[in-house]
Amino acid sequence: GAGITLDGVTKRYDNGLLALEAVDLALPAGSFTSIVGPSGCGKSTLLRIIAGMVEPSEGQCRRGTGMPAFVFQEPALLPWRTVDGNVRLLMELERWKPPEQDARATEVLRQVGLADFGHAYPHELSGGMRMRLSLARALALRPDLLLLDEPLAAVDELTRDLLQEQLSQLWRQAGCTGVLVTHNVQEALFLSQRVVVMAPRPGRVVQVFDVPFPFPRA
Ligand code: ADP
Ligand code: ADP
Repeated sequence: GAGITLDGVTKRYDNGLLALEAVDLALPAGSFTSIVGPSGCGKSTLLRIIAGMVEPSEGQCRRGTGMPAFVFQEPALLPWRTVDGNVRLLMELERWKPPEQDARATEVLRQVGLADFGHAYPHELSGGMRMRLSLARALALRPDLLLLDEPLAAVDELTRDLLQEQLSQLWRQAGCTGVLVTHNVQEALFLSQRVVVMAPRPGRVVQVFDVPFPFPRA
């Protein structure tokens, strides 16, 4: 896994808006951290800086050479591809050899409980299954860093509990560094070893606390 250190990270957008101010944060390799806080406090900006998609205006973000994988609230699945075809997408882009794609696709689909759905299309799956497919696709390339932006916000409550369990298990199997942005404090406590609380205007970290892990479910 890849550890990440942010030192005095400030982000001012071109329109002058101060999205993040002086953020210091350490994400140890192999840890799972959640970022919680109200809308507009800079969670997505922070996640993009951690991913290397956005450069800080001041300060620095140091990360290992590891590869990041992103999972968003809306699983960006290709509707004309089967479940299997969606899982292979990034492997194809990375030009993996077909036999390696076969083996890895089988493996990750089994891990997320979709082994019997390889030939199905995304519209034939439930919301929870689509989310697991999106996770399988992200984990297929064995990322060092798993970045999750409100991945469970759109699923119903029962499905969410189940997905949290599965997400936790998948992250442990993957052995990567996890960062989750969520509005759901219970979810943050359940999944993380560390919770980062942010406040807006300007976006900043107001509290960081370590969670007894695993946190008992309410
Ligand atoms: P959150 O994810 O916590 O809702 P964001 O990181 O998306 O917060 O946004 C933090 C602040 O920065 C908000 O006020 C938002 O409107 C602003 N912001 C986000 N992206 C941009 C951008 N590309 N240009 C200008 N302002 C932005
Ligand atoms: P989230 O739901 O993750 O908080 P937002 O809806 O705030 O995301 O933002 C969606 C996209 O729009 C992001 O790419 C963000 O950077 C951009 N964005 C957000 N606020 C602004 C803004 N005030 N000006 C320009 N771009 C923005």
